[in-house]
Amino acid sequence: MTIAFDTTLATAKQLDLQDELASFKQQFHFPKHQEKDVIYFCGNSLGLQPKNVETAVLQELNDWKNLAISGFAKAKNPWLTYQEYLKPTLAKIVGAKEAEVTVMNTLTVNLHLLMLSFYKPTKQRFAIMMEAGAFPSDQYAVETLVKHFGLQPNDIIIEIAPREGEKLLRTEDIVLAIAQHGKSLAMVLFGGINYYTGQLFDIATITASAHKVGAIAGFDLAHVAGNVPIQLHDWDVDFACWCNYKYLNGGPGAVGGLYVHETFATNTNTPRLAGWWGNDEATRFKMEKSFVPKKNASGWNISTAQVLNTVSLKASLELFEVATIEKLRAKSIQLTNYLAFLLHQLPNIQCEIITPQNAEERGAQLSLYFLRNGKAIHQKMIDNGIIVDFREPGVIRVAPAPLYCSFTNVYDFFKILKDCF
Ligand SMILES: *Cc1c(COP(=O)(O)O)cnc(C)c1O
Repeated sequence: MTIAFDTTLATAKQLDLQDELASFKQQFHFPKHQEKDVIYFCGNSLGLQPKNVETAVLQELNDWKNLAISGFAKAKNPWLTYQEYLKPTLAKIVGAKEAEVTVMNTLTVNLHLLMLSFYKPTKQRFAIMMEAGAFPSDQYAVETLVKHFGLQPNDIIIEIAPREGEKLLRTEDIVLAIAQHGKSLAMVLFGGINYYTGQLFDIATITASAHKVGAIAGFDLAHVAGNVPIQLHDWDVDFACWCNYKYLNGGPGAVGGLYVHETFATNTNTPRLAGWWGNDEATRFKMEKSFVPKKNASGWNISTAQVLNTVSLKASLELFEVATIEKLRAKSIQLTNYLAFLLHQLPNIQCEIITPQNAEERGAQLSLYFLRNGKAIHQKMIDNGIIVDFREPGVIRVAPAPLYCSFTNVYDFFKILKDCF
């Protein structure tokens, strides 16, 4: 039975009753506002703490306390192979083979390492294409990579911007730009979802277009991982990286995620900057000369498994394993559709939803551009225990993460917004 949206609280409650993922909310800690749980719509920046994290962290602390060096082999979760425990769930979340994913470092570091593997500028082929307004860290990474090769960013980086008067990029324009620059294009690097507009790019089409002209296709999936199901392997994406502290709730600065397509992951000649943890386990501890990479994405691991930086993610992924990314996505679409419906019932608020109308072209986030009073509205939300963020000139990003946000939460946001006018 599908419930038609309307503006009553009864309908919000009915939607919650029908939500088979509703009970996951109880598995998270919420900050308090006036002794009540806040409504948390900032999971696109930092996910909440799952309640199972504390025990999981204590386990590692105790094993370290009691076992010290023996913990590498004898801890409850032997540290020697700690990255391995996360692969099955992460692989499902990003649509990859287990051999194509690993965890290490943090997002921007991994982006640098992957670009060093895949960006090989020549006299003919040197250009890097990105979306205009990419996340600053990605912009800085590309800018400095280019300089590292002794090249000038202005000669190399091509930014694709929306058409005059528009806020979103059209896939057809991206495809056209790739074709036009085809001969000189070395790499296309896009954010999977733009952090500001919330636009989900057509990863499959962008990848196919890049390959058609002989360029590499890489993606920063910070806002995609754990938000929208994707098929990195089937879409033939060459490389990708993401952080695990946004929708995946791995905690502040959690270990980052990395994907390398099987074709490159199994090829030990794929260039990389290496360390002993990426070396074949059979010879790693022989401590001999010459790096022998593992024949999978773990061949990109450089250092010892970062246990204390990985344990929270390991615990959080247990919830994703049960909930499944497909069911989370179905609920997420319903949540943003409901939010958009409610906003449309408030014609006087002068608010433009800059995120795509079509749910297939966005994730859990709606970016609301308030022509007036954006800052005051943001403050009003905070005063009422609703956590959303504000970006100049007047954008409030609202991301009801389906693991711990309810339809009633969305309704409450609407109700407070209505009272602002
Ligand atoms: C959040 C985010 C980052 C953050 O990178 P860190 O290295 O984890 O600090 C980078 N890129 C994008 C697109 C992001 O959304």
